[in-house]
Amino acid sequence: MRLLLLAPPGAGKGTQGERLAAWSGARHIAAGDLLRAEAQGDGPLGREIAACQARGDLVPDQIVIDVLTPVVVEAAARGGYILDGFPRTLPQATAAADLAARLGVTLDAAVYLHAPEAVLTRRLLGRASRSGRSDDKTDVIRHRLEVFTQTTGLLVPYYTERGILVTVDADQPPDSVAADIKSRLRTGRRG
Ligand code: ADP
Repeated sequence: MRLLLLAPPGAGKGTQGERLAAWSGARHIAAGDLLRAEAQGDGPLGREIAACQARGDLVPDQIVIDVLTPVVVEAAARGGYILDGFPRTLPQATAAADLAARLGVTLDAAVYLHAPEAVLTRRLLGRASRSGRSDDKTDVIRHRLEVFTQTTGLLVPYYTERGILVTVDADQPPDSVAADIKSRLRTGRRG
């Protein structure tokens, strides 16, 4: 199974990514987690990633591609992957498509999790005290949602044109979202 999860902050990409991985045997690859791990390093690369994440800005494409590529290559050779938060820009989507072509694999679906902005903000603020993340603060949350609308949202028409977009209502309890994703993947219904 090879999937990607396309979703604004707070839509539940991480939760659904873990469940889909457990269900399918594919590896859950969370771009934000890999970049946060990379940001722990005290060299210039780690500092640049940490600064982007703290501001709620996207990390530059080439850095993301360099961090993600080896992980994707390894997962492709095993049980596949559930990409969570990658790609997030059109250049990243092109790089991911080129990589898949080189590996001789294709994506089964791009799952778009959507929910109203008020719901996303409420969830992110709700988890802020527990997450300990530098970007779970009111103004940074607002900025992350804007970045999604302006940049990552462009991938919705991109994958629609490729015929693999599956749109799921994320404003439901996690079990219901997971059930909807699985039933849509089973019936092969796109849209
Ligand atoms: P969320 O979706 O809630 O913002 P993530 O952990 O997926 O949480 O991402 C957190 C941050 O990590 C982003 O705001 C961005 O700085 C960085 N990031 C994650 N994935 C990417 C990506 N594909 N391209 C650029 N930056 C990314």
